[in-house]
Amino acid sequence: MRILISNDDGIYSPGILALAKVAARFGEVRIVAPDVEQSSMGHAITASRPLRYRRIPLGEFEAYQVNGTPADCVALGTHHWERVDLVLSGINLGPNLGNSCWHSGTLAAAKQAALLGLRGIALSTCVGDKEPNFVRLEPYLAKVLDLLVNEKTMSLVNVNFPEKPRGIRWTRQSVRHYNGKIVPAKDPIGRPLFWFTVRPLQGAEEGTDRWAVEHNWVSVTPLRLDLTAEKDLARALALHHAPAISAAKKSKSTARSPKKTRKRRDAVR
Ligand code: MN
Repeated sequence: MRILISNDDGIYSPGILALAKVAARFGEVRIVAPDVEQSSMGHAITASRPLRYRRIPLGEFEAYQVNGTPADCVALGTHHWERVDLVLSGINLGPNLGNSCWHSGTLAAAKQAALLGLRGIALSTCVGDKEPNFVRLEPYLAKVLDLLVNEKTMSLVNVNFPEKPRGIRWTRQSVRHYNGKIVPAKDPIGRPLFWFTVRPLQGAEEGTDRWAVEHNWVSVTPLRLDLTAEKDLARALALHHAPAISAAKKSKSTARSPKKTRKRRDAVR
């Protein structure tokens, strides 16, 4: 089994080595990761400049650094290494729970794998003041990989470790109202600066990723790429079950009064 490993904390993060060491029990491992931290970059890709793919020494592993995003790393990594079976991303220094999934570069690397028709697993852990205790997480990481490596129907999974796990739980993503809180500050010569932070405004619902980690469970959430709002789509199709307006009719409708045109547009939305 070929396992490509990436992250968004940068190739020198201790989390990537901790993950590679355990992953090596399951197959052949190669590391391809950003040269600098790319946390919260989401699923950005570098499309307007060329990328460098450079081999670097990293423990006992074959490792390459890329001057790009986590998604770039997975694209380049799978380009240079044929028949990759699985992409692992992490272990991120910080959780990726609930709405954080929209911003997470860690999850984006796993998502890029799923977009390429491969399987991707994102792994993150909570951090206090000190560096995470990867030795304590190791048995849980091994158990999670044991559980997921051969689960071939799941193409995208988001895993979060609490600081002191007491077991593993299957969960769903917590999607609750949250606040991209702005905290103002000043630079050394008094000019205004702003910190952007993410603070959940509501407590986590039982059975969700946030709830699990708050209760010291390792959270394992299967995700999907299709963002379609199924209920809304079904309702829209049932309400406006009309054939598409032809080009000829469309040009006629522009001659109608603006009010009527607006009504008609709303109806087909
Ligand atoms: Mn990160």
